[in-house]
Amino acid sequence: MADTNIPSIALNDGTAIPQLGFGVYQVPPDQTAEVTTAAFEVGYRHIDTAQMYRNEAGVGEAIRSSGIPREELYITSKLNNGFHRPDDARRAFDATLEKLGLDRIDLFLIHWPLPTRYDGDYVSTWRTLAEFVEDGRATSIGVSNFQPAHLDRIIEETGVRPVVNQIEVHPYFANEDARAASHRHQVSVEAWSPIAQGGVLGDPVIGQIAETHGKTPAQVTLRWHIERGDIVFPKSMHAERMRENFEIFDFSLTPDEVAAISGLDKGEAGRTGPNPDTFDWIPD
Ligand code: NAD
Repeated sequence: MADTNIPSIALNDGTAIPQLGFGVYQVPPDQTAEVTTAAFEVGYRHIDTAQMYRNEAGVGEAIRSSGIPREELYITSKLNNGFHRPDDARRAFDATLEKLGLDRIDLFLIHWPLPTRYDGDYVSTWRTLAEFVEDGRATSIGVSNFQPAHLDRIIEETGVRPVVNQIEVHPYFANEDARAASHRHQVSVEAWSPIAQGGVLGDPVIGQIAETHGKTPAQVTLRWHIERGDIVFPKSMHAERMRENFEIFDFSLTPDEVAAISGLDKGEAGRTGPNPDTFDWIPD
């Protein structure tokens, strides 16, 4: 039951992305084909994976067995932290396409800027991703976890704008500086951990608004992102919750409700993931 109600967000390179997708972070590799297939059955067509999640092959398996026409799918993956040097990035990108079973990916991102690694050089990594657009193997390229200074620098030094910046955003962590910097460059914001991995669902303000609309706290939180124009891809292993997270286009929040949820921001204290300025982890 493919759904046509999911809005598209126009990206700065003339392409478009479904505003709601499905994320597979922490989905075990051996369950990823099954879980992604369940998401396709609910109607999701946009999948967010990464080399770091080690489950691209499972996504590929689900794509192949789905029979869904390629042009209806929107697939994103991300460069792992150990592969920022240009030759490594090229090899890693080849492996991503092979694991996904695709000859073209819709969107490929630098997962983390790692400003304290590689002599602070994420610019040559960014130039390398641009090669994949030039050779037609990536439709679009973008970044993830880029702080304002990182965004300014790659755009200034290469003239190539990312189409998205995928950053942590949820009601407890508005991440407004990175969001505003992205918008300043016409870079769309993808909000990762949109429900803070469940951490905002017990909030009384969100609970009250959910009750008013006869919706769940997860639906209200996801709707808040949608109304702010951000792209989201909540993760769940359960078909029921996948469906719940998908059913957010049959109601809307009032401006006051959006403002009340935005008012829950705790600033830096609300961050659940690492700070991109200092994060330097390279997986084995
Ligand atoms: P999320 O905010 O989507 O929360 C997922 C968790 O919330 C689930 O594991 C489940 O426990 C719970 N949940 C989901 N739906 C629910 C519902 N309807 N009711 C109650 N509980 C529910 O967290 P996430 O997976 O960290 O983020 C979503 C996606 O963002 C990831 O899968 C990944 O694709 C992406 N991501 C990217 C980065 C990055 O560095 N670029 C980092 C984290 C996540």
